[in-house]
Amino acid sequence: MKENIFGKDINACEALMTELGEAKYRGKQLYQWLYQKRCENFSEMTNFSSALREKLDGQYIEAVLMHYEHGASLCVSTQVGCNMGCKFCASTRGGKIRDLTAGEILAQIYLAEKDENLRISNVVIMGIGEPLENYDAVIKFIRIANTGFGIGQRKISLSTCGIIPGIEALAEENLQINLAISLHSVFAERRKQLMPIANRYDFEPLMEACRAYFKKTGRRITYEYALIDGYNDRDEDITGLIKLLKGSQNHLNLIGLNEVQETPYKESPRLSYILGVLEKNGVNVTMRRKMGRDIDAACGQLRKKRYKDKVSL
Ligand code: SF4
Repeated sequence: MKENIFGKDINACEALMTELGEAKYRGKQLYQWLYQKRCENFSEMTNFSSALREKLDGQYIEAVLMHYEHGASLCVSTQVGCNMGCKFCASTRGGKIRDLTAGEILAQIYLAEKDENLRISNVVIMGIGEPLENYDAVIKFIRIANTGFGIGQRKISLSTCGIIPGIEALAEENLQINLAISLHSVFAERRKQLMPIANRYDFEPLMEACRAYFKKTGRRITYEYALIDGYNDRDEDITGLIKLLKGSQNHLNLIGLNEVQETPYKESPRLSYILGVLEKNGVNVTMRRKMGRDIDAACGQLRKKRYKDKVSL
């Protein structure tokens, strides 16, 4: 399979040009064509000779999978399927097929902009897949989305189900992005039932990694919490959330659960009540209704049924 040219950073573009026997500065020109001018056809790269365009042509992009809603905020996928096994999530059925490359993740922005004739200003890395399990490609994606596509780092959010080594590595990247953690329960055992990955990365060590992340980056963390009827919306859950977050700069995002047909989990009717109690108790909290209008959704819960999938493999 040929390598995608889309997703190469500036060094890789220069290396490619050198490999092709061209001057190094051609790499910078290629980078500009790809990301600043959003050129999708080599024939439009008018400052390249026809011989060079021919050499490049065999490596042009194929978009693999994108997952988006109309609007200037785009939710991107980082893997085809997912191995994390979260019980409320449709994306994990069938497991992970493969990781996406940085270019394939970028292509989701590119194609959404092209299809909808708009510019994406916010990106949420919360679609199918666990981004920190595809770490290198995702970091590369973020850097190119920022410096190439011109999307501000603070306009990029990454959501993880709690991969501790990934959080630790991310803290060292010197990025200004927003980190969101799929929390969904403050009780370790309940969280494990809901999110099997918590058996590997338990609640307390995860909270410790989050504290270290905040200390290192100064970036507040958002905890995503999908309210499930009778499971994590009980009075003791509210008390646990208050204990965890009262007075903290971190932020709690309550979400109306998107019910997945094959699971027993139902949306909680207590959403507004819980929001009120948490607010009264000094928790920095917002509420997000079920996805639909708002693309900024809980990690991996974008169901095919509710959203357009575009697949080109
Ligand atoms: S919620 Fe996210 S991490 Fe969990 S299974 Fe779904 S896609 Fe994977």
